[in-house]
Amino acid sequence: MTGTARSPEDIAAYLASLDCVHCGLCVEHCPTYRQLGRESANPRGRVYLMRAVMEERIEPTPDVIEDLDLCLVCRACESVCPSGVAFGEVMAQTRSKLKKRGPIRRWMMGALLDRKRLNRAAALMRFWQRSGLRVLRHLLWGRLKRMEAYMPTVPHADARRPLPRHAPPIGETRGRVALLEGCVMSVLFQDVNRDTMHLLQAAGYEVVVPEGQACCGALHEHDGDLETAHRQLARNKDAFAVDDVDAIVMNSSGCGAAFSSADMPAPVIDLSRFLVDHGEHLSFGAFTEPVAYDAPCHLHHAQNETTAPQQLLTRVPGLQLVPMDLWDHCCGAAGIYNLDHPELSGRILDEKLDALERSGASVLLTGNPGCLMQWRAGVAKRGLRVEVLHLATFLAGQVTA
Ligand code: SF4
Ligand code: SF4
Repeated sequence: MTGTARSPEDIAAYLASLDCVHCGLCVEHCPTYRQLGRESANPRGRVYLMRAVMEERIEPTPDVIEDLDLCLVCRACESVCPSGVAFGEVMAQTRSKLKKRGPIRRWMMGALLDRKRLNRAAALMRFWQRSGLRVLRHLLWGRLKRMEAYMPTVPHADARRPLPRHAPPIGETRGRVALLEGCVMSVLFQDVNRDTMHLLQAAGYEVVVPEGQACCGALHEHDGDLETAHRQLARNKDAFAVDDVDAIVMNSSGCGAAFSSADMPAPVIDLSRFLVDHGEHLSFGAFTEPVAYDAPCHLHHAQNETTAPQQLLTRVPGLQLVPMDLWDHCCGAAGIYNLDHPELSGRILDEKLDALERSGASVLLTGNPGCLMQWRAGVAKRGLRVEVLHLATFLAGQVTA
């Protein structure tokens, strides 16, 4: 590394980039390389570019920035890298130096940090969706237009109300866990949070939703705003320092990956793994339609949780889990990638939709709000008769005890 003073994080990212031995084992696993086929759009090429920028051998020209920006940060490359290159860490640090954010982006990212603001935006969006104003959507432009198109139907204010701070276990008490409501989850998918809470109660756990919790900062990290990401994690670390909690249970893989990267006051665990390990007495009603599972990148690659969702599904009598090609590849949602790079995101999703059609599934399960929105938009656009659900929603609908 050359140049003036570097922070410890810069040095750590630089050292991580040196771990790459250019073997290329990651190349075919990279969704953007599958589409674009050029070296600078695969992990090896991107590590090389980032290192060259850090060493000041090349300038971060618009072309270089574009190639780095086209990375989904899905971290599929990390799962297969024999040298253990911490790709996500190198990319986050590089983006923190290079990424420019305009006013709309800053507003959007800022809104995630404030539940009241997020709720006001949701109320406005609901009014837009229900008042007939949508006929004017052709007047929208750019990212705003794409955001409008991807936005699911915003639930009624009553369905967006905060979770209770405490929920008692159902039946015998087995322990106490904490739950994160999240930002997008709390506004657009509060039903998933309620289903998660119900499953945990049915498993015999008291659920606490700590006061003072906040957006986990995962989207900010993805966007290279590390300062905000670290601040959010610190806030949550304080908020989750509650007594006698066995675990912090996560139902959004992006938030789970962010929490897992920090030294939280209790073990951080995905709902699927928690129920496999601690929900042994739960029983489920039969389900006989074919079901496919699509792994969220931040569960499968970032948290290395590759089996628990499928294990849980084997406990649903009659359930036929059908194989789906590319099930462990990114769906193209990747934070707000689908808004930033709609064309490439659409191509990535198209390949996955082909795989979904071939699988013959009538239900698709996943575990992240961004993936739910991306899949639902794609399924609707293609006119497929496939229900896209969060794993918690599906299991809560099947649980009998
Ligand atoms: S994080 Fe994903 S998109 Fe980015 S280089 Fe790695 S595999 Fe490719
Ligand atoms: S697999 Fe790892 S070491 Fe090999 S090229 Fe990819 S990032 Fe580099």
